[in-house]
Amino acid sequence: MAENKRDYYEVLGVDKTASAEEIKKAYRKSAMKYHPDRNPGNKEAEEKFKEIGEAYEVLSDDQKRSRYDQFGFAGVDPNYGAGQGGYGSYGSGFGGFGDFGDLGDIFGSFFGGGGSRAQRQNAPRRGENVGVRLDITFEEAAFGCDKEVSARRIENCTDCKGTGSADGKIETCSQCRGTGQVKTVQNFMGMQMQSTTTCPSCSGRGKITKNPCNTCKGKGKVYRTHRQTVHVPAGIDDSQVFPVSGQGCVGSNGGANGDLLVEVHIKRHPIFQREGTTVYCEVPITFTQAALGAEIQVPTLDGKVAYTIPEGTQTGSIFTLKEKGIPNVNNPRRRGDERFMVTVETPTKLTKEQKELLRQLDEGLDGKSSPKRKKFFDIVKDFFD
Ligand SMILES: [Zn+2]
Ligand SMILES: [Zn+2]
Repeated sequence: MAENKRDYYEVLGVDKTASAEEIKKAYRKSAMKYHPDRNPGNKEAEEKFKEIGEAYEVLSDDQKRSRYDQFGFAGVDPNYGAGQGGYGSYGSGFGGFGDFGDLGDIFGSFFGGGGSRAQRQNAPRRGENVGVRLDITFEEAAFGCDKEVSARRIENCTDCKGTGSADGKIETCSQCRGTGQVKTVQNFMGMQMQSTTTCPSCSGRGKITKNPCNTCKGKGKVYRTHRQTVHVPAGIDDSQVFPVSGQGCVGSNGGANGDLLVEVHIKRHPIFQREGTTVYCEVPITFTQAALGAEIQVPTLDGKVAYTIPEGTQTGSIFTLKEKGIPNVNNPRRRGDERFMVTVETPTKLTKEQKELLRQLDEGLDGKSSPKRKKFFDIVKDFFD
């Protein structure tokens, strides 16, 4: 196979020893520069963008990169038998939100290019997933909410109803009879070798559009920003991703749509923190409340709850309010607990009289009222005396 491809490292302008982070940075920079949105109708930029996407697809994947390092293009080109394919599921190919992470793929399939996907253009293909980031409050995450998000995605062109044709005249390719592939017979060391290749007349699409649609330049698809309201499930945690089925890029040739994948970011709450479904909160109490016990008001996601702390409560003591935490995202009827920690606030700015009262109190106290302190100093005494 005659390759006049540029070396992937050269494409991204990085050293062979570049770290994953450096590669990602270089890719972002170039992808921004040559992004089709910024260079409308610029064929050269489109080619560059595809080239960058392809290079990044290989160099950002440790396995592919090492195969490429060892064997060159042959190591990563599926035509050499190292085939892979399919589309990114939630787990894989979903590293980068808002950083063009999967745009390489999107454009690869959009413009009908890109190594592993080049064959069989007319086969049904699922649309790519699209990721968006969504910032919500602590309470919204706990109880769920409806939010508007907007995502860039590939849609069918409305002007030509996705056909790519301005006048609806689409003919079946005569060379391949619509299969998108042609058989060629070659003479190989005296033997007749038959092989199947992509049809050169229709580039594998199986169809020929005589009069391409102006809006989408015959591709049948356009890139659009789509706004929609999504339901955020109750109990979702920070950095979790939930799918909105079928709201990603449109599929090709009858393939299913991709999904919209929403990555949730929860804003900091001034008093609550969470770990899984447990809510944590710190409640300051006075020195007297701690000593005598008291009914205190504890904030929860459902409002204030009265709680009686016992006499002699120590600072740092933790109490539990059953089922006042976060609902389980998979089973919202089950809620976690709230655990609150009391901290004793030492009084400041005391008056002369108050200080005198405290001194009198202190004189009346003995080892029984502060056993921890007594034990501690007994140990200290053993050590140093
Ligand atoms: Zn169109
Ligand atoms: Zn053809």
